Amino acid sequence: MPNPSLDIGLNVTGRRVLIIGGSRPARRVIARYCAAGAVLYLAADTYEVPNPLVRAVAWPHSPSAWRDLVSAVDLVVAVDLPAHDDPLLVAACAEKAVWLTREAAAPVSRPGHVTLVGGGPGDGDLLTVAALTALRGADIVYYDRLGPHDRLDEWARGAELVNVGKHPGHHAVPQAEIEQLLVTSARAGLTVVRLKGGDPFVFGRGGEEMAACRAAGVPVTVISGVTSAIAVPALAGIPVTHREVSRMFTVLSGHVPLSEEELAHLVGLGGTIVVLMGVGTLPHLTSGLARHGMRTDMPIAIIERGFSEQQRTTVADIETVVKVAGEVGARSPAVLVIGEVVRLAQRDDAAAVEVLANAATLSGQR
Ligand code: SAH
Repeated sequence: MPNPSLDIGLNVTGRRVLIIGGSRPARRVIARYCAAGAVLYLAADTYEVPNPLVRAVAWPHSPSAWRDLVSAVDLVVAVDLPAHDDPLLVAACAEKAVWLTREAAAPVSRPGHVTLVGGGPGDGDLLTVAALTALRGADIVYYDRLGPHDRLDEWARGAELVNVGKHPGHHAVPQAEIEQLLVTSARAGLTVVRLKGGDPFVFGRGGEEMAACRAAGVPVTVISGVTSAIAVPALAGIPVTHREVSRMFTVLSGHVPLSEEELAHLVGLGGTIVVLMGVGTLPHLTSGLARHGMRTDMPIAIIERGFSEQQRTTVADIETVVKVAGEVGARSPAVLVIGEVVRLAQRDDAAAVEVLANAATLSGQR
């Protein structure tokens, strides 16, 4: 049997749309149709969320009342309809040839819910399907400049969008305050999305936000995102692992300098080193690695502003990189990659073969 429903786009600007369902379960649907410019009517048994943009209409109690109601509009959207009313609505729409569609009810529990969403490294195309679904169902989205946000009004139609990052004329909202905002919004019964750059649990303070929600008794879930630690090097043609070249990668934050002990372990481990927030501590890191025995001609790549039009990759070795970075004016946000895999960047197959041959010689020397 063919599927009787299709996912189609309709221009509803100026169209009369009747939404059937309680104002709280239908709040997301109302917000989306409002944002799309529809003229909205709501038939609901409860009106908990007064909305000046929606005209309330009486609940129909007979087949003829259902017919009168639906024949006055262009489209009917059913959200959470009581089972005994459903056949009456379907019959009335069929008889009056009025379009009928159904939408899922938004949760109405108190407290609401917080979802920590990984938004990927900046390009909206790297959002996951789960991230888009969470955004679509959000009442309020807290975002900052590291996550993708240029198309938020399209992804989270009708949701309140709150910038908690640094932006012109505003300081970033302190972390403790962000956590409080998440908890307060969820306690008010809202479906809250905290959109973060990359993956929420890779230097994203997602763990702290999760703990704050749990401590406040607010349900919280996490949607992993594509992390810049892997995706930004990939964009520059650098695989963080490559058979027979590197079979491990270590991801570290450079926002505070590594201790001597950490530097020694890192050199001893081998494999690829990926550094986030590492531009400021680059001189300390590279001199430290060399001091602990890393070859001074070990290649390093600095990939700045990945996924933007200003993306730039600078390749040097750990001995020369500080000078080269100074010359080109390298700055944050950037991902640093240290290791033989850097030689694979944007090279052809012949070069890859050469890298493999060198790697085999080097591992033989160890
Ligand atoms: N949770 C994020 C990382 C947050 S720390 C993730 O998983 O990707 C912020 C650092 O990530 C930046 O200082 C930079 O080192 C790196 N970063 C994030 N997005 C980047 C991008 N588009 N280009 C280059 N570096 C990026």
